[in-house]
Amino acid sequence: MTRQAASYRRGRVLLAGDAAHVHYPAGGQGLNIGVQDAVNLGWKLAQVVKKISPESLLDTYHAERHPIAAAVLRNTMAQVALLRPDDRTNALRDAMSELLKMDQPRKRFAAMMSGLDIRYDLGEGHELIGRRMPDLELVTANGPLRVFTLLHQGRPALLNLGITGGLDITPWADRVQQIDASYSSAWELPVLGAVAAPAAVLIRPDGCVAWVGERTQSGLVDALTNWFGPPAAA
Ligand SMILES: Cc1cc2nc3c(=O)[nH]c(=O)nc-3n(C[C@H](O)[C@H](O)[C@H](O)COP(=O)(O)OP(=O)(O)OC[C@H]3O[C@@H](n4cnc5c(N)ncnc54)[C@H](O)[C@@H]3O)c2cc1C
Repeated sequence: MTRQAASYRRGRVLLAGDAAHVHYPAGGQGLNIGVQDAVNLGWKLAQVVKKISPESLLDTYHAERHPIAAAVLRNTMAQVALLRPDDRTNALRDAMSELLKMDQPRKRFAAMMSGLDIRYDLGEGHELIGRRMPDLELVTANGPLRVFTLLHQGRPALLNLGITGGLDITPWADRVQQIDASYSSAWELPVLGAVAAPAAVLIRPDGCVAWVGERTQSGLVDALTNWFGPPAAA
C-alpha cells in the first residue's frame, strides 16, 4: 500500500506519521519521517496555542512536510518494483547496483534515504537556509558547546559567529536564545558536503535553518517575525 493524505491540516485537525502517509517499509524511512513530522509541527502548534504566532504558521507544516513524504513514497515504490523476480527486473537491479558503486549516485541515494537532503523551500539565499543545521562543536566564552544541545528545550536559537554582540534581537529575547560563538573548522553538511561559512544562523526549534547572516543583519527581523511572532512591545 502506498497512500498519502491530500492535506495534513483541516482546521484543528492535523495528521502526522502513518496517519498522513503509509508505504512499504523498504529502507526503514516510515518512523523517521513520522518523527520529523511531529518535530516540525510541535513548536508551531505551541506558538499558535500560546498566541505567539498566527494560525497561518500551521499551514507551513503541510507545505514543508507533504513533499517530503511524497518523495519517500516515490522512492519506496521504486524499491518495491526492483524486488520483482523477473529477468528484466534482475537486469535493472544489476544496472542500479553498478550505478550505486559510483560515488555521486551513492551519496545522493544515501542523502535521500537518511533524510539529510531535506531542504524546505524557505526562499532564496545561502545553501543552509531550509536545511537541517549540522551538529557542530562550537567554542563559546563558557567553553565548548554542541549546537543540538541548544535545541533540547524546544526553543529557537540565534548563533552569532561574527563580532561578539554584533546582533541585536532584544524584542525577541523572551523567545529566542542568542549565543556568541566561534567555529574555525570547514563547514560541512553530512553527506552533502561543503558550504560557505556563515556569520550568523537562526535555527528553528526543529533544527531547520531559518535565516543566514553573511555580512549584515538584512532579513533577520523578517525571519524572526515570520517564524517566532511579532516583536515584544518595548
Ligand atoms: C513490517 C514493518 C517494518 C517497518 N520497519 C521500519 C524501519 O525499519 N524503520 C522505520 O523508520 N520505519 C519502519 N516501519 C514504519 C513504522 O513502523 C511506522 O512508520 C511508524 O510506526 C508509524 O508511527 P505512528 O505513530 O505514525 O503510527 P502507529 O505506530 O501506527 O501508531 C498509531 C497508534 O494509534 C493507536 N490507535 C489507532 N486508533 C486509535 C484510536 N481510535 N484510539 C486510540 N489509539 C488508536 C494504534 O493502536 C497505534 O498504537 C515499518 C513498518 C512495518 C509495518
